[in-house]
Amino acid sequence: MIKGEDSFKKIIAHCKEYGFIFPSSEIYEGLSAVYDYGQNGAELKNNIRDYWWRSMVQYHENIVGLDTAIFMHPTVWKASGHVDAFKDPLIDNKDSKKRYRADVLIEDHIARLEDKITKEVSKASRRFGSTFDEKLFRETNPRVQASRKKIDDINRRFVPAMENGQLEDLRALIEELGIVCPVSGSRNWTDVRQFNLMFSTQMGSANDDASQVYLRPETAQGIFVNYLNVQKTGRKKLPFGIAQIGKAFRNEIIARQFIFRMREFEQMEMQFFVRPGQEKEWFEYWKEKRMKWHLALGIPPERFRIHTHDKLAHYANAAIDIEYDFPFGFKEIEGVHSRTDFDLGAHQKFSGKKLQYFDPETNESYVPYVVETSIGLDRMLLAVLSHAYREEKLDDGSERVVLNITPALAPVKIAVLPLVKKDGLPEKGREVFNILKHDFNCQYEDKDAIGRRYRRQDAIGTPYCITIDHETLENDTVTIRERDSMKQDRIPAENISRVVSGRIKLRPE
Ligand code: ATP
Repeated sequence: MIKGEDSFKKIIAHCKEYGFIFPSSEIYEGLSAVYDYGQNGAELKNNIRDYWWRSMVQYHENIVGLDTAIFMHPTVWKASGHVDAFKDPLIDNKDSKKRYRADVLIEDHIARLEDKITKEVSKASRRFGSTFDEKLFRETNPRVQASRKKIDDINRRFVPAMENGQLEDLRALIEELGIVCPVSGSRNWTDVRQFNLMFSTQMGSANDDASQVYLRPETAQGIFVNYLNVQKTGRKKLPFGIAQIGKAFRNEIIARQFIFRMREFEQMEMQFFVRPGQEKEWFEYWKEKRMKWHLALGIPPERFRIHTHDKLAHYANAAIDIEYDFPFGFKEIEGVHSRTDFDLGAHQKFSGKKLQYFDPETNESYVPYVVETSIGLDRMLLAVLSHAYREEKLDDGSERVVLNITPALAPVKIAVLPLVKKDGLPEKGREVFNILKHDFNCQYEDKDAIGRRYRRQDAIGTPYCITIDHETLENDTVTIRERDSMKQDRIPAENISRVVSGRIKLRPE
């Protein structure tokens, strides 16, 4: 993987050049923070989606999946708190005319202080070697202590200001911390204002009978309102989970980081319903489980970090973010939240319908508690691509761009390439392709020199290229070239399917 602003630009350009991601409505100059997935992006997205679904639904006896509508009764969003509280504090810089989220400006400032601490710790760890006592160092080093104190002082004001919507306090913090606009470098800020992120539209044909509905800003509420339907029809006993993958919409204030922050995106969420009092245990369980899911993709652990929330949403009693080291730094990719009985309790109140569970073990009825895992499919795809993108210098002096995607997620698994476009090789190639296509997403290509075709497949991350040559016609063997090592082996054509299947397995725990 490569890092930095330039590398991010390269990844974006690569996504476009190789049919992964295009700006939406590009022939009309695009639409801000909306993107389309091209032929390879759609395959990659399907594979990530499938990996998540299998590991959550298929691998867990007590989790089922559903697919709820994007439109929901407007009261759902009143009950969930989104109408009143799904707002971000925005602030403008008067010189650059750029708009920011006030909380993000402050969080970035805190992150810089955290970075300072991390640097001090790793410097000391190198100096002291095996005798290094990190806990003691963190507790006693004056520079670490000073940064820690600054962070605590900020949080003491930042957390209540966010919780109570005290916009003047946020503004005051930004001023006092001397936060400057990254574009103009000035401190010439406007006041902070609240901005609701939900998109709304009218449902109904005539204006007078039309009612305002929202495009859902998260998929979770579709799960909550169906909790009882699933529990009863599926005869589910606690603990059990409901999973869903689907589109969500947020009118984000700043949407500048490609598919990291979009206005239309896709979420993969799972709500796990548990007996009250057991939520902390399950929270720990899901935190660990979800980290393992990420690591099973072969991305090294140091590319992930867990951020424990200091400021908890009003409905949560524990929350973490799993952050990934994107080319622009560590950012949230997934959240694991212990949401108590807030959502079901609120829907019970607003709908007047009982959403309780009768627990045969305790002979009690209660509203279950919920632990949720919520990951953005698009952010996950961006993480996979950012990790996979490599520029390599080869032994013969040439260069290649290769996407080192875990084979199970690769858009195309096998490319079938006749060495030349004559002598019956294309016919044999088609024959091999037509067999393999039943088991894998394959491509057949016979244009251009073989080297150029290999490069094109490397660039979209195809793990295996099968080359059909003159020897194939004699003894029905082919060469199989592995993407990362570029090593080629000769194998019987009839073994291709078995060999490739064995190497592209991805088994989440
Ligand atoms: P952020 O703080 O980055 O805005 P969030 O905390 O609001 O994210 P959640 O509401 O917890 O995010 O949503 C769960 C997941 O959905 C996030 O971890 C992220 O992967 C994804 N997600 C949220 N907003 C967006 C967006 N605008 N574009 C793409 N993915 C998103």
